[in-house]
Amino acid sequence: MNAKIFIIEDEPSIVKLLKYNLEKEGFIVGFSDNGNEGFKSLKNFDPDILLLDWMLPDLSGIEICKLIKKNEKLSKIPIIMLTARGEEEDKIKGLDSGVDDYMTKPFSFKELFSRIKALLRRSKPNTISNILEFEDLKLDRLEKRVYRKKTEITLGPTEYRLIEFFLTNPKRVFTRDQILENVWPNNINVETRTIDVHIRRLRKSINLPNCKELIRTVRSSGYSLI
Ligand code: CA
Repeated sequence: MNAKIFIIEDEPSIVKLLKYNLEKEGFIVGFSDNGNEGFKSLKNFDPDILLLDWMLPDLSGIEICKLIKKNEKLSKIPIIMLTARGEEEDKIKGLDSGVDDYMTKPFSFKELFSRIKALLRRSKPNTISNILEFEDLKLDRLEKRVYRKKTEITLGPTEYRLIEFFLTNPKRVFTRDQILENVWPNNINVETRTIDVHIRRLRKSINLPNCKELIRTVRSSGYSLI
């Protein structure tokens, strides 16, 4: 699914369960077990959704939420608050801190997953859609096929992940480090030079005769889908 989810939660069993299930669905997952550190990590991680526990050892979920809403760079991150039964009733009602949704523990992953999808559909429709399109390029996630001007293109697994990543964020310039983090999330040993190699292969595959270049090299920055 390619979207990024950050979890701030101090209960290891919940973090483990969430991380396992979210990664299985293809999300890139980051987490922290305390508020201060978690808040600091948000800017770098740049999540598409934040799962935020209410009761944390240092800052409360509400305090973190207020900090996020005050911060220009972070204020648009959709937040799902995780609360224990009994905490939520009166407290959540009075909430004006900008939580988008909340789940009462214990919750089923299935339920949480459908709420995550609902939020992403609003905030980042491309991460959830099965068909991604840009100009004459089309990717079908269910069939795992890519087409250029209706001609099917054969891609290696890495090139497929690369183009899927670019298609979820067209026109946005990504540094090699950002591409690395999103396309090779579990492999820290990949050199940035490797990215150039795969970009070259991807270009070769998708640039059919009489088709324009779709991947732009941005000098000293990185790459973007035009
Ligand atoms: Ca807690």
